[in-house]
Amino acid sequence: MATRSLLLLPGDGIGPEAMAEVDKLIALLNERRGAGFETRTRLVGGAAIDAEGAPVSDETMALAMSCDAVLFGAVGGPKWDGVPYELRPEAGLLRLRKDLALFANLRPAICYPALADASSLKRHLVEGLDILILRELTGGVYFGEPKEIVDLGGGQKRGVDTQVYETYEIERIARAAFEAARTRRNRVTSMEKRNVMKTGVLWNEVVSRVHRDEYPDVALDHMLADAGGMKLVQAPKQFDVIVTDNLFGDMLSDIAAMLTGSLGMLPSASLGSPDETTGKRRAMYEPVHGSAPDIAGQGIANPIAMIASFAMCLRYSFAMVAEADALEASIAHVLESGTRTGDIMVEGASKVGTAEMGDAIAAAFAERLG
Ligand code: NAD
Repeated sequence: MATRSLLLLPGDGIGPEAMAEVDKLIALLNERRGAGFETRTRLVGGAAIDAEGAPVSDETMALAMSCDAVLFGAVGGPKWDGVPYELRPEAGLLRLRKDLALFANLRPAICYPALADASSLKRHLVEGLDILILRELTGGVYFGEPKEIVDLGGGQKRGVDTQVYETYEIERIARAAFEAARTRRNRVTSMEKRNVMKTGVLWNEVVSRVHRDEYPDVALDHMLADAGGMKLVQAPKQFDVIVTDNLFGDMLSDIAAMLTGSLGMLPSASLGSPDETTGKRRAMYEPVHGSAPDIAGQGIANPIAMIASFAMCLRYSFAMVAEADALEASIAHVLESGTRTGDIMVEGASKVGTAEMGDAIAAAFAERLG
């Protein structure tokens, strides 16, 4: 039996509630398919600050480096608003992304027909939507130096963040985007702000060159990121794959989230480069949403983003394509049947909590696994 090692980092707020629903699916795969998943669970974010004094411990980082994949819940919450900046819960997430060198963040935005009415846009604009946003994850303004607040005296301070991109960083995310497009509708839209940012000029230049030299078969267009935001809400179905930097990707993927009805529906995968000897990619899977302190502890969070993140894990880390398809079909089936958490509730549907939604998906999944 193959052993597949998973590190589970549930985190804070609704993170542990959502992760509990993935545990059920892992148990099913081990039982029904002899999948051989071995899991270890560790703290991250605020929970790790409280118990271990840091948002991610060195021991947890070592496990993250050695396992096949990491499943991450969510971190943060008002309890840790006052902790020093370097120790804030999100620093744990940023360290994981940086140390695992996860440079490509894949965020699908898929609108299940059963949920088209939960979107803030009209049904005809979103029904059948299927976009993949590739966000560069380890560079740009979240990491660039200098990054500081300087006291200028006289009650004045200066806050500085630095946007930096080098050629290789743009090349590898561009390649990931063109390769993803080849498995989809063969179209990439690159978004930056070349009109006002030097990094935008370089981004545009490098993406164009990679396209010309290596992927001329894929259609490429360029769009300013602000115009891209407008187009995403005006006519989102025009896009196939969108590739963009860390900051714009953070915002544009949240806009895309709302097209699908709820942040509670959106999974993501973060991938590194393949290892030169083993060919294995480091990878982390996490919902797009945060720790949702406003609903944490009430058992009402939507676990689908977390479950769909696990489906991406089956697909990209373990090549368990049939199982990933079955899990995604199970989600669609449960939604079709009118089972809804509060965030995607519509008239006439039956409202359930986190565990009931997880159970319904697990039951549908078990049926498909046979
Ligand atoms: P959030 O995503 O936690 O919540 C935004 C809104 O969406 C809230 O009203 C919440 O109730 C709702 N929501 C989110 N996920 C849901 C789900 N699964 N089911 C039902 N409703 C859901 O964003 P926020 O409120 O801006 O941030 C809360 C905390 O999370 C902050 O501390 C923030 O820093 C942190 N955060 C963490 C991550 C992460 O861990 N990756 C991402 C974003 C925000």
